[in-house]
Amino acid sequence: MKETIFDNVILKDVWFTHTEDTTRFYTSIEVMSNTMNQTYIGYATFPKMTIDNKIWELWLTCVYLHLLNFQPFTNSKILPPNGLNDYSILFCNDLYSHNYQIWNKIFGRNIDISEYISNYPEFDPKKYNIENYSKVAVAMSGGKESSLAYHISVSYGLNTSGIFIDYIGKSKRREGQRMSEYLKQVGDNPVVITSNLIDFLCLLPSQYGKHSMYLSPTIMLLLMQCYCSKKDTLLVGNEYDNTCPKLENGTSYFGDNYEQSTVFERKLTQYLHDIGIDIQVFSPLYNLTETCIQSLLVDTSYFNYQESCLVPIKDNSNNYVSCGNCSKCKRIAAIIQSIGINTYYFDPAIFKNSSESIFNSLNGTDEAETLVYLLNQQGIYFDTSIESTYHKNVFQYNIDDMHPRICPLLSNYVISMVQTIPLNRMK
Ligand SMILES: [Zn+2]
Repeated sequence: MKETIFDNVILKDVWFTHTEDTTRFYTSIEVMSNTMNQTYIGYATFPKMTIDNKIWELWLTCVYLHLLNFQPFTNSKILPPNGLNDYSILFCNDLYSHNYQIWNKIFGRNIDISEYISNYPEFDPKKYNIENYSKVAVAMSGGKESSLAYHISVSYGLNTSGIFIDYIGKSKRREGQRMSEYLKQVGDNPVVITSNLIDFLCLLPSQYGKHSMYLSPTIMLLLMQCYCSKKDTLLVGNEYDNTCPKLENGTSYFGDNYEQSTVFERKLTQYLHDIGIDIQVFSPLYNLTETCIQSLLVDTSYFNYQESCLVPIKDNSNNYVSCGNCSKCKRIAAIIQSIGINTYYFDPAIFKNSSESIFNSLNGTDEAETLVYLLNQQGIYFDTSIESTYHKNVFQYNIDDMHPRICPLLSNYVISMVQTIPLNRMK
């Protein structure tokens, strides 16, 4: 691997501007190497908001998380933004000390991180069982998890709005366009934040991308919107994950799934509380498998607008839609077909010769074996070393120590939904 090593990465400036109906936050970052110094500008645009010190704190935290992504490739210590709260620094360092484990394993950078090591306290699980959510926001990508989280919140009767992030810079990540249009049509008034911040990752070695802290700074943007629109809950769509964390350097190590773990959500909720923001962050989907989530979504109106794709392409109406060809499209198409739904872009030929790619991000052996079984039942066979076995727990609500019930009332509601999945669709 050809490594890019920077001499230093420095935060030069942070500022904001208002127009009549938007507020845009900026950051400029100077990247210094022995060949050149270059300044890059990142931004995020929101519906017009009033700026106070709490929103500013979230913005600086978002910026610092972006900066820390450069640390494994930088010879100097990257400093936090001036004025950043101690809680924010500890929270970012918790993420950094976790991600360092990944970076060190993959990139072999042996950097002393002792001064970064932090293990942020988790929100007390007893206090976490909060049942009074009055204004709920849902982090929307338009994929199956966020769409189902949205459906759960709306159908449970909560005051719900969706927040989308449209990454429109050099690297586009334009997810959920059809879903946000649909929500507009039905009068749900989703918020769309536009940003180019993901472009900072383009400055790093490309194989680093999926191991970077990408989700946590994105969640900071969502929280800025939640805070200014006075939400008390941010729902995220994280599904059941069977990673067993182990303790390394005093912090739990989850691999790439840390930012999607229940532990991270409890730390984030505690962090927000510590800086004076009372917003709880959690996923109502933790105890469900991907196949179960997809089974629940196909019966809702949102299913028609689901996009789950790594490289969305433009359709005739200039909307970004699923490409129908990438590994994620293949996996989703296989899951949808396995539960007996025919989709226009499903053709077993798209994954027959690369069947392993549809299984490698499923939760575990049980789910993969069940997928093979269900496809076989429909006469679809392909080369795979995975056994064909039906496991009924794939369509059940599974609880273990890492995936506790978050809010009993909402959990009971999800359990009752799971019980309505028609059996003839599965076997
Ligand atoms: Zn695709």
